[in-house]
Amino acid sequence: IKPLPSDAPVGRIDENSFSPYAGCRKFSQLPMSKKTKDGLTKAKYTKMTEIQRASLPHSLCGRDILGAAKTGSGKTLAFIVPILEKLYKMRWGPEDGVGSIIITPTRELAGQVFDVLREVGKFHGFSAGLLIGGRKDVEAEKERVNDLNILVCTPGRLLQHMDETPNFDCSLLQVLVLDEADRILDVGFKQELNAIISQLPKQRQTLLFSATQTKSVQDLARLSLKDPEYLSVHEES
Ligand code: ADP
Ligand code: MG
Repeated sequence: IKPLPSDAPVGRIDENSFSPYAGCRKFSQLPMSKKTKDGLTKAKYTKMTEIQRASLPHSLCGRDILGAAKTGSGKTLAFIVPILEKLYKMRWGPEDGVGSIIITPTRELAGQVFDVLREVGKFHGFSAGLLIGGRKDVEAEKERVNDLNILVCTPGRLLQHMDETPNFDCSLLQVLVLDEADRILDVGFKQELNAIISQLPKQRQTLLFSATQTKSVQDLARLSLKDPEYLSVHEES
C-alpha cells in the first residue's frame, strides 16, 4: 500500500478502497468520458470541491458511497458525474429504459438537480425526467416513464409510479442516488423509501449523500448500501 499524499481527501483508506486518483484536484484529472468533461467545462466546473475529490475516485469505479458534507459543498456533481459515466460505459441507450434513479426530499431540490443534470449531461444522449408531485399530469407521465434513462424524483411520486404505472420497469437499474438523505427522512418519507428500495434490484451501485449523519441515516445506509466508502468532509480547503 502506497503512503497517502499529504493532501489526500478525508476518508477510510485501506487496501480495498485505495484509488490512484485520490490526490486529484481537477475534474480533468479523473478518468471520464470527453462528453462529461465537456459538460463540466462548459458549465465552468474545473476544480473539484472537497466532497467531490473525496468521493469521485471511488464512485467512478462503482463503489457504494455514504457521503456527509454540509449544504453547499457540491454534493450534486458528486452523484451526477458517476451516473453519466456508468451509463456511458455501459452504452446505455433509449431501449434500455431506467438506468438511474435520483431521490430527493422536495420538488424544489429535484428541480435543481434536474437542471444540473441537463447542463452537465448535455453532450450525452440520455433521456431524463423530473417526476414530482403537484399539478403535473401523472397520466401523461405514466406513458413516458419507461422511455426515460434517468429519473429525478420525490419519493411519493416515484412510489406512485411503482404502484400504478403499467409495466413500470426498473429491473435494469444501475445507480440509485439518495440525495439529502437526512432531509428525506425528516420530511417523513422513511416508509416510502423502504418500500421503494425493496422493489429495486439488489445488484446496483448506491450513492447516499447527506448533510448530517443521524441515526436514521445510518439505518437507511445499512438497508441500502453494500460495503460503502464512508466519506465525511467538514471544511472546504
Ligand atoms: P450541496 O448539494 O452539497 O448542498 P450543490 O451541489 O447544490 O451543494 O452545490 C452548491 C453550489 O456549488 C452550486 O451553486 C454549484 O453550482 C456550486 N459547485 C458545485 N461544485 C462546484 C465546483 N466543482 N466548482 C465550482 N462550483 C461548484
Ligand atoms: Mg444537494
